[in-house]
Amino acid sequence: MWAVGGALRDELLARGGHDEDFATDALPDEVEEVGRSLGVPLVTVGKRFGTIGVLLDGRWTEITTFRGDSYEGGTRWPDVTFGSTIEEDLARRDFTVNALAREATTPGSAILDLFGGREDLAAGIIRAVGEPARRFREDPLRILRGLRFAAQLGFEIEPGTLAGMRETAPLLASLSQERITTELDKIVQAPWAGDGLELVREVGALPIILPELAPMVGCEQNSFHQFDVWGHTVATVQAVAKEGPDARARTWAALLHDLGKPYVRHRKTNGEWGFYRHDAVGAEMVPVLLDRLRIARKDVHLVTLLVRRHMDRPKPEDRRSVRRFLSKLGGHWEDLLALKRADNASHTYDDEGYHAALEAACRRAVAEDAAALRAESPLSGDDLVAMFDREPGPWIRVLKDRLSAMVLDGDLAPGDQDHARRIARGMMREKRKEEREKE
Ligand code: ATP
Ligand code: MG
Repeated sequence: MWAVGGALRDELLARGGHDEDFATDALPDEVEEVGRSLGVPLVTVGKRFGTIGVLLDGRWTEITTFRGDSYEGGTRWPDVTFGSTIEEDLARRDFTVNALAREATTPGSAILDLFGGREDLAAGIIRAVGEPARRFREDPLRILRGLRFAAQLGFEIEPGTLAGMRETAPLLASLSQERITTELDKIVQAPWAGDGLELVREVGALPIILPELAPMVGCEQNSFHQFDVWGHTVATVQAVAKEGPDARARTWAALLHDLGKPYVRHRKTNGEWGFYRHDAVGAEMVPVLLDRLRIARKDVHLVTLLVRRHMDRPKPEDRRSVRRFLSKLGGHWEDLLALKRADNASHTYDDEGYHAALEAACRRAVAEDAAALRAESPLSGDDLVAMFDREPGPWIRVLKDRLSAMVLDGDLAPGDQDHARRIARGMMREKRKEEREKE
């Protein structure tokens, strides 16, 4: 039994948190039988492909039977055949950094490295095992996996491997959408997402896996931008803070925020390029695109909202403007702010002063709203009786209702007793005047 795959790679990179993969000469039936006789929990959904899932020490571990030389090339989906040696198995793996193995049952075993994987790991290189174009033809998903590892690890792609990717990229069209989307999603969430996206374009995969974005390349912008729409998009995905419960939607919104631009571009009277309504047009395109990619519904809604609103620019010092802004965002103002900050990262001007003021204003408004939900008149009945030296009666309820309504409307800050007293005095003057007129 051999430790293989991502866990070994990430261990050598001192990058933890990876599920373990093992390879063995035992056939799936035998692995299953051993597992059952030991009474460990098993998953057999991958059995047809040689993989049994085993729960070991509370962690899901995959045990896969050695692969044999089965690929014929061509378009037919190859059947999995099993091999009998680890050498044969490693030769079937995609990249040298993934083709390392270590005997797992003998403590202190050396690493088996047939293709220079450790050297490539140290140098930060993604290199195909064997003849690149042939390996990508066998399974074009390897192209995207290679770009994904480059984006996750910050590695370069070896020139011969890159050339093989470019040569075979049209075959990506034959893959299922699920397999493409899984890799694409990992690329955009990765620490080197920007480099990953540039590689997607470089190998010619963009028109195949994201044709809607292809017109961004070479779509020149006005003097506020250092880049064309594509370069700006790449910089925005790289810059967006990928954190919070909706990090995924943020990242996709960064990728798609200017989707509408190439479709609405026009010359303004001052000679600059204009992109009027690109936010609205982009927001119409987003759900169609993301549904095709089979992105989860909840993310589609949020990405669409963020794209639609990314040009909103409320005045931080104007309460009503800030409240209108917040009311359109259904609680996702922090996600929109993260997008706006990232969007600004590749502009020639620095908008951070504005974004900091907007963030503070939003935080204040949200805190006020939380207080207003517990909206109470800043003055109690006793406060009012003491203020006006008057018998308790229905007048107290009238005043308190009025004051709490003003707190709810945002016209009176919660707990602001001085302001509340001035209002109460004004109301009482009116009331006395009415009483006198009646007499
Ligand atoms: P991660 O789990 O972080 O995605 P990983 O390298 O473990 O990375 P897996 O998809 O879990 O990737 O695959 C485990 C191993 O199986 C890989 O390291 C690689 O050796 C091999 N492998 C996976 N997919 C392919 C493929 N399409 N072609 C060739 N080998 C593959
Ligand atoms: Mg893995």
